[in-house]
Amino acid sequence: MARMVLLGPPGAGKGTQAVRIAEKYQIPHISTGDILRKNVKAQTPLGLKAKEYMDAGNLVPDALVLDLVKARLQEEDCKAGFLMDGFPRTAPQAEAFDEILKETNMELDFVVDIRVDEEELIGRMTGRRVCRECGAPYHVKTMPPKQEGVCDLCGGEVYQRADDTEATVRNRFKVYREQTLPLTAYYEKAGKLVPIESEGGPDQVFQIILSALEA
Ligand code: AMP
Repeated sequence: MARMVLLGPPGAGKGTQAVRIAEKYQIPHISTGDILRKNVKAQTPLGLKAKEYMDAGNLVPDALVLDLVKARLQEEDCKAGFLMDGFPRTAPQAEAFDEILKETNMELDFVVDIRVDEEELIGRMTGRRVCRECGAPYHVKTMPPKQEGVCDLCGGEVYQRADDTEATVRNRFKVYREQTLPLTAYYEKAGKLVPIESEGGPDQVFQIILSALEA
């Protein structure tokens, strides 16, 4: 049983690490970004409200995100714990999250904070591509599909997410610095912060995280 939050700038590999941590600890991986994207794709009322903010690299209003997190935490699988990926992103979200946990008698164990150089991340993110059908990830430099624009796995269209263009990526960093970075101090004060210097590939970073969590 573990309850964790994964913090870090956009493009730091949170999604990749989250999948591994969730598997290792046998807990659900809750990505507010994934949930929001699914809602946008399905054109639900939440998706229709969120789309404009997401495409511009801005944060979706706290109230919308808090409602979806509250609902998700009530699902059965969260009894085993959870790993939050991409939430909380603002001080009001962190405070509301504390309240939600208190009401449900849950306590957060760790906040894993991945730290990476910003310029390196911008290069990584603007090269990112993804399959529109199955979500398989690609990168124009490091992991291109065999045939440009076509998914190796399912033949779907490989495209650039609207929030991965350079202007949007720069804005997402600005949003991160102004709104999310202060949360590291908040969780450090609460004695929950586990800082991780991200060096090397995903395997190495995962090992660093595991060692830090087990320490
Ligand atoms: P992500 O995949 O986590 O980078 O999220 C993609 C986009 O979804 C973000 O740029 C925001 O527009 C929105 N989003 C995801 N999580 C949150 C959150 N906790 N608060 C506000 N907006 C969010």
